[in-house]
Amino acid sequence: MGYSGWKVIWQGLTGNTGWKPAWREPDPKPSYDVIIVGAGGHGLAAAYYLAKEFGITNVAVIEKGWLGSGNIGRNTTIIRSNYLLPGNEPFYEFSMKLWEGLEQDFNYNAMVSQRGILNLCHSDPQRDAFNRRGNSMRLAGADAVLLDADGVREMCPFLDFDNARFPIKGGILQPRGGTVRHDAVAWGYARGADSQGVDIIQNCEVTGFVMESGVCMGVETNRGTIRAKKVGVAVAGSSGRVMAKAGMRLPIESHVLQAFVTEGLKPVLPGVITFGAGHFYVSQSDKGGLVFGGDIDGYNTYAQRGNLPVVEDVCEGGMAIMPMIGRTRLLRSWGGIMDMSMDGSPFIDKTHIDGLYFNGGWCYGGFKATPASGFCFAHLLAKDEPHPTATKYRLDRFRRGAMIDEKGVGAQPNLH
Ligand SMILES: Cc1cc2nc3c(=O)[nH]c(=O)nc-3n(C[C@H](O)[C@H](O)[C@H](O)COP(=O)(O)OP(=O)(O)OC[C@H]3O[C@@H](n4cnc5c(N)ncnc54)[C@H](O)[C@@H]3O)c2cc1C
Repeated sequence: MGYSGWKVIWQGLTGNTGWKPAWREPDPKPSYDVIIVGAGGHGLAAAYYLAKEFGITNVAVIEKGWLGSGNIGRNTTIIRSNYLLPGNEPFYEFSMKLWEGLEQDFNYNAMVSQRGILNLCHSDPQRDAFNRRGNSMRLAGADAVLLDADGVREMCPFLDFDNARFPIKGGILQPRGGTVRHDAVAWGYARGADSQGVDIIQNCEVTGFVMESGVCMGVETNRGTIRAKKVGVAVAGSSGRVMAKAGMRLPIESHVLQAFVTEGLKPVLPGVITFGAGHFYVSQSDKGGLVFGGDIDGYNTYAQRGNLPVVEDVCEGGMAIMPMIGRTRLLRSWGGIMDMSMDGSPFIDKTHIDGLYFNGGWCYGGFKATPASGFCFAHLLAKDEPHPTATKYRLDRFRRGAMIDEKGVGAQPNLH
């Protein structure tokens, strides 16, 4: 069913009895044109764009739990396109443009809120680096504003500017950055895909791949074999485990990343703020809670819960830039499994196995990529060639020495 203001009023007057489930609960069919493994943001977006943009509707999205149970419902909801390298910036700016039209596109309120993202800088060389990044963003059609300390003070008078281990010297602002309600993104894409005929099959775990003469012809699941002409895997933190079932070893490590939410406060933060001398990022939700996070826990794991040393580290980062945060009470925290690639950049590529395609390696940053990742994965699945903004996200880039090392920190997941 479509949603509109009139429908809300009508349902309000008639006891809210006319709302229908937003998607069906179909049983799997014996075969599909395309199977996508993983009903996270990227898998659901890929199915939505396959149907809407490329006319391929005989599609199933297979999910081992419930849709939205992975990182799409666990992230800190930040969107931005403030990248430096040519392999990345056009892709993330494409994503930003898709965010800007998304709610109209899939007729669902995802609470896209472009209230800006401000990255603080604490030294002259860091300001130079931000200057370079801002120029690169603007060349790719994105927006960037370099602020001095007074400019930052005007926006965020509560920050600790001078009485700090790392005094704030300024920052780079992307006004079009912001936040989006993460689970509504999953629901909106799921509803949009379902309404075009895509089967979303929950509680169905992929346990293997159907291989015939070296070609992938479908998936084995705990609900039986499902055949397909093409299989796309978008399982984020489970990438290593799932692709191992096809005999592939990926340049990806899995780590846990935690998120934190405080009690509700009156509006205090104008947008997203990030610390430049440590790892801490914070925004304020529409309910008033401060939503924040920092580093990954420093060891490989598939657990979806984190440990106390990182809680302490993240809170230290918060205290370093805004000591007032020490007065708030933490309500909730949780963890998600991150697919950390060895250069910090993702993959959207065919594998060496015909019929098998891979999308992963999103690290901390895959939520903002959701629309473009879905679009580009759909493009690859439909046309067998990469979308123009995703040509560098190849699986063989390490062998070719063509890494997209956005931060220049090498193969160190905790630094990406
Ligand atoms: C705490 C935290 C904070 C973050 N903050 C941000 C942020 O502010 N901004 C940002 O851009 N990014 C952020 N991220 C990263 C972002 O959330 C992820 O990169 C992105 O959500 C990953 O893509 P996805 O949504 O498709 O993954 P997921 O939602 O994890 O989807 C993968 C799905 O695959 C399913 N699956 C796994 N194995 C199988 C199987 N064998 N069979 C069937 N299904 C399977 C899983 O159950 C899961 O539902 C954050 C992540 C975390 C954990």
